[in-house]
Amino acid sequence: MENQLDIIATPAVDQSALSIWSACLSSIQGQVPSQSFKTWFEPVKASKLENGELTVQVPSQFFYEWLEEHYYSLIKATISRFMGEDARLTYVVVPPDEAGNGSDVHPAAAIRLQNDPAVSAIRLGPSFSLKESEENLPPSKTFLNPRYTFNNFIKGDSNQLARAAASAVSNNPGGTSFNPLVIYGGTGLGKTHLIQAIGNYAFEAGKAKRVCYVSSEKFTIEFVDAIQSDKTREFSNYYRSMDLLVVDDIQFFSGKEKTQDSFFHTFNTLHQMGKQIVLSSDKPPKDLRGLDERLISRFQWGLTADIQPPDLETRTAILLKKCEDDNIEIPQEVLDFIATNVTSNIRELEGCYISLLAKASLENREINLDLARDVLRLVVSDVRSPITVEEIQRQVAEFFDIPPDLLRAKTRKQEIVSARQVAMYLAKEMTNCSLKTIGLHFGGRDHSTVIHAYQSVEDQIKLDSKYRDTLQLARKKIENSSR
Ligand code: ADP
Ligand code: MG
Repeated sequence: MENQLDIIATPAVDQSALSIWSACLSSIQGQVPSQSFKTWFEPVKASKLENGELTVQVPSQFFYEWLEEHYYSLIKATISRFMGEDARLTYVVVPPDEAGNGSDVHPAAAIRLQNDPAVSAIRLGPSFSLKESEENLPPSKTFLNPRYTFNNFIKGDSNQLARAAASAVSNNPGGTSFNPLVIYGGTGLGKTHLIQAIGNYAFEAGKAKRVCYVSSEKFTIEFVDAIQSDKTREFSNYYRSMDLLVVDDIQFFSGKEKTQDSFFHTFNTLHQMGKQIVLSSDKPPKDLRGLDERLISRFQWGLTADIQPPDLETRTAILLKKCEDDNIEIPQEVLDFIATNVTSNIRELEGCYISLLAKASLENREINLDLARDVLRLVVSDVRSPITVEEIQRQVAEFFDIPPDLLRAKTRKQEIVSARQVAMYLAKEMTNCSLKTIGLHFGGRDHSTVIHAYQSVEDQIKLDSKYRDTLQLARKKIENSSR
């Protein structure tokens, strides 16, 4: 059979960037949910096609990062499909008010943000350079704790958007549409860490010359002092001289009208000068009580991102990172045990870790499950053992009234398959086991079977509320069994 067909993807040099990109968009549209398409793809405009390189405009650096993080393979595949394997895609960041007026790209400012030669990003020269402050004030960095960095902030599903936005803002303070950036969430979940990381990075990387971190309480006390000592002008001038102002826990402004008024003017001045404001709060701005409507509406000008309590995987990763940083070896089972039991927040998780080290050294004991149990008993009311895949299988089998062996057997009878999928799903959710390990527990199935099971269960949860309740019951049963 020598009937070879040569298909050479001809680079579409003769077509305009617009038509290529619109073909790509139509193809992408069929492959992502319509809301995502509207949010992340519609705003991307093609601007140039040259030597197999398509240039598209995105409204912000964050936008670019989001696309790269979430749609990288899809975009790459689509571009290759329409333009050939060697095609390259270049992003240009053009803030919305500059788009369409033909702003020129500064080729010398090209930077590559991805390790793949097919994708690079170009930053606009002028719009990214920092605006010089009017009076040539000295650099200053106030009240930032150097301990809080992006490097030691563990990523997880629970903080994904907040972290991405924080990183975008720290790279280009005042230059993204996330102004102000408001990070909100419960106590001990990492708000202070994240907003200080923005300040530390922006200062160290020379993106902001004057950076100040202040809690809303400190701001309030200083304001009251300033009134008493007749120094309100100095007070205002100081905060208004910042390139990046980070204010923590703004819920404490509640009920303090004069302070709010002062902060309102500071906010406006900074915002008008294109300076970055970063805020944290224990709830979304719209739910803050005792705060002036004018302030609340301004807080919603930029981006509001939440931090949720961390899942088991993230909790374990945080503990592991602590051990690494402190150069201490703690057996994995001990880490799993702590992460299983301390679920509410990260501060408490760190507290347990420190108590564990303290107890080990004071009582000269080895760090093992026994020691961990002694520490946890003081913190958690009912200590649980980490859940094992075997236990999940046992409980699920009982729940569905089938012999546990069948979950591991080859049988493809429908009710067994369903139960097996539920057990795999719960194993992924409730243990730290990798997909591969989970597969091995189910009669040596491979990891793609586990992914498939996980996805079918997720799909059914979305469609069928009864199914969701059943699953919830099974989960409760397993949780109780580990008490
Ligand atoms: P909040 O301000 O939300 O009350 P913090 O920022 O003070 O919480 O965080 C509590 C502790 O947990 C801090 O020591 C912080 O370094 C740590 N922490 C929070 N989130 C993370 C994370 N994602 N990775 C690593 N450490 C974290
Ligand atoms: Mg805090």
